[in-house]
Amino acid sequence: MKEDFLSFIWKFQYFDKKQLKTTNGGLLQILNPGTLNTNSGPDFSNAHVKVGGMLLAGPVEIHVRASDWNLHRHHHDPAYDQVVLHVVWVNNKTVKTSSNQEMLTLELKDRVKKELLFKYLKSGTSNAKIPCEGQLDRISSSSYNKMLDQAIQERIRRKSQEIITLLKRYSYDWDLVSYLVLGRNFGFHINTVAFETLVAIVPLSIVRKIRPNLFQLESLFFGQAGFLQRITGDRYYRRLQKEYEFLEKKYCFRSTMMKKEMWKYLRLRPSNFPSLRIAQFASIMHHQDFRFSDIRESATADIFRNLVVQTSPYWNHHYDFGKKWEGGSSSLGKSSRENLIINTAVPMLVAYAVHTGQSDCHVRAIGWMKDTPPEHNHMITYWKDKGFEVPSAYHSQAIIELNTQYCNLRKCLGCAMGQSLLAGISKL
Ligand code: SF4
Repeated sequence: MKEDFLSFIWKFQYFDKKQLKTTNGGLLQILNPGTLNTNSGPDFSNAHVKVGGMLLAGPVEIHVRASDWNLHRHHHDPAYDQVVLHVVWVNNKTVKTSSNQEMLTLELKDRVKKELLFKYLKSGTSNAKIPCEGQLDRISSSSYNKMLDQAIQERIRRKSQEIITLLKRYSYDWDLVSYLVLGRNFGFHINTVAFETLVAIVPLSIVRKIRPNLFQLESLFFGQAGFLQRITGDRYYRRLQKEYEFLEKKYCFRSTMMKKEMWKYLRLRPSNFPSLRIAQFASIMHHQDFRFSDIRESATADIFRNLVVQTSPYWNHHYDFGKKWEGGSSSLGKSSRENLIINTAVPMLVAYAVHTGQSDCHVRAIGWMKDTPPEHNHMITYWKDKGFEVPSAYHSQAIIELNTQYCNLRKCLGCAMGQSLLAGISKL
């Protein structure tokens, strides 16, 4: 038995309320269980109960054992003197407030349906990837959609908070942070850390200075990424080396150069090789003056769909230095552009909405996700195979959040689908 289950039982009142009494025999009536409190202090606030005909309003505290009251030192804490009801699974001790008042206590262990308890215990100990797997056919589309709405809000809030942390660090320079976030996401999962490091050591101010010259940009990014340290190479490679030497002397940044080993190639298709990605990123910086205002003022996410990516001709025939490919393309694929919408444009716009309070930006960001096709991965396939609809990136992103932040952590009590399954049992 865990406290979160007890909170769940109390919040939704899933217990037998016939002839309810406190442990000292007072007739108890619950008018309002109160609101779950996620901050410090008692677990629920603003509850309304009647004990022996007397109306009491105030907080409710939840514990598995009544003795936890003392264990948590509430008997010395005046902040808990206002608690109107102590709800426990087992009443193993009489406890008092700091002003020596005996706590009114409700014991629940004999009032909860065994089936509900059994299901709860089973979901917590299940080895299945999705503990509710065997009951998915009992989940309505409305609780599925309700949970996805909750999950997507949590996901974009978390991502935008990360951006706000970056903004604080860089004195709210929105253009710089957009550059850093775009660069980080150009790692496309496998090389996220490497790309994040690269954009951190290639100052945006220098990128802007040499922007008109694509070749200089390529040498700057490849040089700082640690790609130009080989002794031999083809003509294009040697030219890059020479240009980087020139830039390095001019801007003095060799000491920050990355080690080439930071870049990962394992299990990557040539179109995702870091060398090609760096060339594409340099091209984006060359062809557009990438500014946050482009995101902020855009009605649609088409600025990302239409990003101009035209690398040096060398990359039309090579996927890595000295490695040729036939029929390959150095352009940025459709799914990569959509990935940048999901992971760069949307969180940046939501961060702006949070920072400025402009809710229309938040609405627009949600719309961009709904206009973007879903990603493809094993989690999305799983839910689709079970008959649930995943029509857009809004849904696929919510599913990723649900799986990683709820299912994997067995937080079924916080999940609308888990709640609806348990609610069904409580009505048996
Ligand atoms: S968190 Fe929700 S979807 Fe995931 S296993 Fe639990 S009840 Fe099922």
